[in-house]
Amino acid sequence: MARVSGHKAKVVGARSPLGKRFGEKTGVELAKMGLETIEDLLRHYPRRYVKRGDYTSLDGGVPGEPVTYVAEVVEFHKRYARNRSMQIISATISDGTSTLPLTFFARQAYLAQHLERQLKVGTVAMFAGTLKRGINGQRELTHPEVEPLDSWEDEETARREAARPIPIYGATTKLQTWKVRKLVRTLLDPLTEADVLDPVPAEIVRRRRLLSELEALRLVHTPEDEQEAQRAKARLRYDEAFLLQTALARRRADLAAFEARPRPAVEGGLVDAFDAQLPFTLTDGQRAVAAEIGADLDAGAPMQRLLQGEVGSGKTVVALRAMLQVVDNGGQAALLAPTEVLAQQHARTIANLLGPLGEAGMLGGATEGTRVALLTGSLNAAARKKALLQAASGEAGIVVGTHALLGDQVQFADLGLVVIDEQHRFGVEQRDALRTKGTTMPHQLYMTATPIPRSVAMTFFGDVEVSTLREIPAGRSPITTHLVPAWNPRWMERVWSKVAEEVDGGGRAYVVAPRISSTLEEEGADVYDLFAPEGTPKKRPAGTPETVDGGPDSTANVEDAAAWLRRHTTLDPAAIGIMHGRLATEEKDAAMAAFAAGEVPVLVSTTVIEVGVDVPEATMMVVLDADRFGLSQLHQLRGRVGRGSKPGTCLVVSWADPASETHERLTVLAETLDGFRLAEADLEQRREGDILGAAQSGRASSLRLLRVIADADIIERARADARELISEDPNLVHHPELLTAITQLVDPDHEEFLDRV
Ligand code: ADP
Ligand code: MG
Repeated sequence: MARVSGHKAKVVGARSPLGKRFGEKTGVELAKMGLETIEDLLRHYPRRYVKRGDYTSLDGGVPGEPVTYVAEVVEFHKRYARNRSMQIISATISDGTSTLPLTFFARQAYLAQHLERQLKVGTVAMFAGTLKRGINGQRELTHPEVEPLDSWEDEETARREAARPIPIYGATTKLQTWKVRKLVRTLLDPLTEADVLDPVPAEIVRRRRLLSELEALRLVHTPEDEQEAQRAKARLRYDEAFLLQTALARRRADLAAFEARPRPAVEGGLVDAFDAQLPFTLTDGQRAVAAEIGADLDAGAPMQRLLQGEVGSGKTVVALRAMLQVVDNGGQAALLAPTEVLAQQHARTIANLLGPLGEAGMLGGATEGTRVALLTGSLNAAARKKALLQAASGEAGIVVGTHALLGDQVQFADLGLVVIDEQHRFGVEQRDALRTKGTTMPHQLYMTATPIPRSVAMTFFGDVEVSTLREIPAGRSPITTHLVPAWNPRWMERVWSKVAEEVDGGGRAYVVAPRISSTLEEEGADVYDLFAPEGTPKKRPAGTPETVDGGPDSTANVEDAAAWLRRHTTLDPAAIGIMHGRLATEEKDAAMAAFAAGEVPVLVSTTVIEVGVDVPEATMMVVLDADRFGLSQLHQLRGRVGRGSKPGTCLVVSWADPASETHERLTVLAETLDGFRLAEADLEQRREGDILGAAQSGRASSLRLLRVIADADIIERARADARELISEDPNLVHHPELLTAITQLVDPDHEEFLDRV
């Protein structure tokens, strides 16, 4: 990477390295795009290029979002306001097919004159601003910034620049694409080959005939033509793939060096006793997966298996059997859950499934059984001490917990298996912390309800084996999903009366909103979704009335939505509770308990209820601003309803324009219950690759260009190169700069995707 990058300290905006270099205001604008360091900006690649003479389509863009157009001025009018306090300037720009009105209000005469000069009919310019909808619903730009093309400082620059495609950068309303371009050029132009460290070993650069790193940076930002930009991108994609695959190859080599204790199936042990008392028979899928896991546990190498299956597909039962197999061998199993609520629920579920088998040593417990301990951050000192003791002594064969399990004080007598639920929510370091608690390397089972298409799993999970549960056990009720347009007051009224009916009939309803409050951000850790679309824009039709989420310009939030429902619907205000990740643990527990018991049958919540939470009476879910979520995430959310005997209904509320892609995406959700189909639909929507980048973290991801499906061949090549390199130089002693680059990639502070894999 570029040596100029300096350190990657966690500073934002004004005090970031870019803020220091370009001034506070610019620093703040850049930080809005997740750009803090010099390297961040150098790697802020253009989104696309416009050929001179080509205009960008004026149909693109979403009201409320910043847009940039290249177009020609076709009309210009200037008139005085009625009281002559200012001049109103209207212009029309055209892309050759459609037109867009521009409006400016000029109080000063010089401003009006300036605009008149800038906006001569026939002028081609870049226009940047926030797209609005006028009173009559028509799109317009008010006070856009105007950058006439070909207004270069001198003739030489003009000649050189005129031939190039124009890069269009991700920009903010205050920092337009042309300003971003100037900043990038300021950094890039003085660089020499010696300033830029190439993470890819020279030998591979030669063999693969790659551009130099500096050349690639130059060509991606200032290509002579579209082909050059493509060549540059090919190299930069290779870089990304190579770093990623080298990191994976190293992890693979590290793991291969460890041994695990085989924990074979024990005839007449707990697993058999458990199977005998199960109130249902395992599905064929469960049996097949259980056999795979059983065989892995019997091996001398640590199991590395990902168990994926829809919510409710019966993963927990399968995982529990694996844990019991380890207990049958005198070992212990730990189950790590991402949230307190889930850990408690897992502990309850497991205790229920085990019955007397989980109460060894207790009155009525089976003598051949084991014990289940729960270890979370909210335990009081006595309970905590007891749990720690049970884990350390081996008395508890199964220890369920949250991050609290990773603490230094937590010890196991013989940890043989680590099960990690919703593995993508944990970082590599966190998982490694648990692994090192065994005397030998414990076997590892990861569970996820987010289906991962096979192509992605093979590419990104390297050598982790994947087991999939495809069928849902019989007896589950179906879920019906309907799309509801938020701007239609009659439909919205119907939504709330449906909720009221459901509650009157003894049911429970979730109302899900993306944010906690109008001031608190989305719940970072909680909303992370492997497949959520990046910064899904809002596309809201004009004339939309004030409603539950405060209107078309803000994102629905739990606090305001709950207040609104209490005031504006027939629902009993006391029947409406709230739930989100910022509540204290006791408040969360109380809210969940009151909801489960039916005392507070409407729960307005963020996605904390997304995974695993089980309230059989919950029959209805309303998701507000549903377009803020990925399809996979919505699918998981709706899996929370219809878990009892009554069928579930999911009402997906969105402001999305019926003609928009966003609306189309949500339609897929209403049409299918197949989680894999939805995961793939999410992927298809990802134009600029980077499904694994932490888009929600706000920081730019290190995977900017790589596309999982389209770049499969690049990834394949990079993987071969990386494995060869690692087999020759496992610790990268001869490639220190590569080691640095990888360390940055997997450093948790950088919130890069490897932490989530
Ligand atoms: P997951 O963890 O994949 O979301 P669970 O293991 O929690 O799914 O199972 C969901 C529900 O289905 C639980 O109540 C569980 O007891 C039940 N279940 C699991 N396997 C079966 C089966 N083979 N037949 C009937 N019910 C099952
Ligand atoms: Mg589960």
